[in-house]
Amino acid sequence: MNKKTIRDIDLKGKRVLVRVDFNVPISGGAVSDATRITAALPTLKAILAQGPKSVVLMSHLGRPKGGPDPKYSMKPVVGELEKHLGAPVTFVEDPMSEAAVEMVNGLPAGTVVVLENTRFYPGEEKNDAELAKKFARFGDVYVNDAFGSAHRAHSSTEAVAKLMPAVAGLLMEKELDYLATALENPKRPMVAILGGAKVSDKIKVIESLLSKADKLLIGGGMANTFFRAQGHSMGASLVEEGAVEMAKDLLTKSGGKLVLPVDAVIADKMDNDAATKVVSTSEDVPDGWLIVDIGPKTVEAFAAILADAKTIVWNGPMGVFEQPNFAKGTNGVAKALGELTGKGAITIIGGGDSAAAVQQAGLAEKMTHISTGGGASLELLEGQALPGVVALNDR
Ligand code: AMP
Repeated sequence: MNKKTIRDIDLKGKRVLVRVDFNVPISGGAVSDATRITAALPTLKAILAQGPKSVVLMSHLGRPKGGPDPKYSMKPVVGELEKHLGAPVTFVEDPMSEAAVEMVNGLPAGTVVVLENTRFYPGEEKNDAELAKKFARFGDVYVNDAFGSAHRAHSSTEAVAKLMPAVAGLLMEKELDYLATALENPKRPMVAILGGAKVSDKIKVIESLLSKADKLLIGGGMANTFFRAQGHSMGASLVEEGAVEMAKDLLTKSGGKLVLPVDAVIADKMDNDAATKVVSTSEDVPDGWLIVDIGPKTVEAFAAILADAKTIVWNGPMGVFEQPNFAKGTNGVAKALGELTGKGAITIIGGGDSAAAVQQAGLAEKMTHISTGGGASLELLEGQALPGVVALNDR
């Protein structure tokens, strides 16, 4: 990575302002999944080991509309962080006030502080320079460890980085190392697997991966639009009629790299208890039925292609994996990837639904890297630069 990290800068006695991704789920006023908090611990511990004056953390949480909303307060995060860090954490409820800055400056050396939700302040999502100046009062050095927010140019991810020395945290570094290396300089063969609902969301990703990967396996609802492009009736399946021409185009210019499912699970309704059948994708889907998953022959065919891959990148589930009866294809692919990791392949799971699917299948430990950022990893796969990364100091 060509950006400076916390290893390249002296933090002793400094006030370190860290953008973390603590956008955690809250249920009944408590953090219900602390994955994102624990993911930031290596960075926080490494900063603390350098003997800083203070470590001030800021993050967004949820999507509060138009100002402070107790439902999205960072308060529950404070106790959870204390538990995982094993040290007291101070909460700042009104980071916009001068009193808050004075209070933080007066804390004993090495204190960890959490600021209230960055999205409580209207300038955040507009990348407002004035708001960035307010955040900057808490730091001498800025660290961005929020990979999951790096695709957004917001005050706390972009504008603030211009106001002081700005470096990457260890999580940010790890995410970029895995994802960027896999894309720029992959061990080959490299195979990408794309799934999820809509092809229109992922056109740029498909185009970018067609130029980088040796094979691109397509599953999930997005495969339906390709079958439509081949002239099939798709019954009640999710099809984007507006994207059919583009799917035709992609099939023509893919030069055989693009691999579609050979069979599919169809259901008579979108319900876990629906009647289901496995059908060949060379046939039309009967009226009233819809494709909900890839079939067992496709799992085998995909596994055979993946068998000699050295780098595998996966984004998007192979079916409606939220319903256990429609999750077999997604779980089958997850299992194949787990086994291939054991045999030396580098397996990288884009965040979001594919990360959830791997976790749901109990296979998270078996992958080389599971990204903490769905949107950010998709933008990297598209070949885009992330504004939160661009803003950091070059080596
Ligand atoms: P995305 O956000 O584009 O990655 O899409 C993820 C969603 O795609 C999940 O909620 C899946 O349930 C959905 N999905 C996957 N396969 C299908 C399918 N065959 N039909 C409808 N939805 C699907």
